[in-house]
Amino acid sequence: MVRVQELLERQQTWFQTGESRSYAYRLTQLKKLKQAVVEREAAILEALRSDLGKSEHEAYTLEIGPFYAEINFAIKHLRRWMKPKRVKTPMTHLGSRSWIMPEPLGSVLIVSPWNYPFNLTLTPLIGAIAAGNTAIIKPSELSVATAGIIEALISENFPPAFIAVVQGGADTSRELVALPFDHIFYTGGTEVGKLVMAAAAQHLTPVTLELGGKSPCIVHHDASIALAAKRIAFGKFLNSGQTCVAPDYLLVHRSVKDALLEALAQAVASFYGDEPLKHPDYGRIASRRHYDRLKSFLQDGKAAFGGGSDDEALRIAPTVLEDVAWSSPVMQEEIFGPILPVFAYEDLQEAIALVNARPKPLALYVFSRSEAVQRRLTSSLSFGGGCINDTMLHLGSPYLPFGGVGQSGTGSYHGEQSFLTFSHRKSVLKQTTAFDFPFRYPSFKNGVKIIRMLMKP
Ligand code: NAD
Repeated sequence: MVRVQELLERQQTWFQTGESRSYAYRLTQLKKLKQAVVEREAAILEALRSDLGKSEHEAYTLEIGPFYAEINFAIKHLRRWMKPKRVKTPMTHLGSRSWIMPEPLGSVLIVSPWNYPFNLTLTPLIGAIAAGNTAIIKPSELSVATAGIIEALISENFPPAFIAVVQGGADTSRELVALPFDHIFYTGGTEVGKLVMAAAAQHLTPVTLELGGKSPCIVHHDASIALAAKRIAFGKFLNSGQTCVAPDYLLVHRSVKDALLEALAQAVASFYGDEPLKHPDYGRIASRRHYDRLKSFLQDGKAAFGGGSDDEALRIAPTVLEDVAWSSPVMQEEIFGPILPVFAYEDLQEAIALVNARPKPLALYVFSRSEAVQRRLTSSLSFGGGCINDTMLHLGSPYLPFGGVGQSGTGSYHGEQSFLTFSHRKSVLKQTTAFDFPFRYPSFKNGVKIIRMLMKP
């Protein structure tokens, strides 16, 4: 406790020097962070393979590549983001000018999960640095190799009074979230998210909660089935399904269900061969506990394909489950593994009602050629973000804020939104001293008449 508290106090003291506020400082640190990653790329790839069996293709596409895209975007736009923004001033305030100045929040905490242990730790850090904060980072205890690389990379490049990594499990994390940070950025499960929010509330510390949930994928009868299958299999079976925005379950129009299942099986075979459990690029499950949980879900339906598992290697084959009851365990919590339950619907209203009956998901995927169907689903359903005719890709655009809604999270980041998440937007009004309207003062006779003229219903 003393150690983390002291660390935070050191950061708070250093923050007061104002050093982290200037454009030049922020820019230099962002460039330094990028360079540090470039130099350690091989070690990061190695760590991701060791923690989760990630192939280079997967690790670069979803961890390192998106980090570069975000940091390049921040470096390019930082000066503009930092500028005070002039805003209009109403007639009632004649003579004055107004603007909004972003300012750093102070000392922030970033707590991250194991599934994308590099990206989900360092991408929030881009926002924290860009906004001029100090940061303490708590990587997941389950992705030890990546956490080790991140700690080395940070400690070799940044003073701990500016950025520090604290390693440890839930106990350490509990100690950290109980401290009076100026912001907590948490990525992880919904239940822990509630604990983080409750701890933060003790200091009125604002939180960003990047949580999970059961993200539906709806395939209508007019969808391009072969393409939909490839894109669904990509989003679902990457990282062995341990992706917060992976399609959690499929709702497919009854008339195309068989064709879709066949196309999904073909897509999986084209990615990972006939024996995915033996494919070197097919990832493993993070721990024995997670593996056992997933393996038990295989009993909750009939495998349309897949269904195999490897107790030694902690691998579960890409699996599509049919005949699943909505009340079965696999449908009670986020699956977070390579198991995809499939349900058929007769008409869209039925699909909409099924999604609306559950907590608001982190993502929604719609496959249909019809713009009317696309519009109907995206406007009538609430979800954090999503794609039409694809999966996952909304995450990779710095122009789209990424985050959940309701149970799937609060707040968002990526692109300018990362900068805003870690900034306070300070409103300033500058009044003229050249004149002073007397009618606002209580001593002015009939002042209220003038005010009523200016501020009509
Ligand atoms: P988790 O909630 O178990 O752990 C995440 C982090 O919280 C870890 O660093 C852990 O040490 C810490 N932690 C654990 N118990 C804590 C406590 N009581 N108080 C404070 N901190 C605590 O999550 P996980 O299993 O690592 O990740 C899986 C979940 O994360 C899934 O639900 C997934 O959907 C979600 N997720 C969301 C996103 C997103 O961007 N929205 C991304 C990845 C994962």
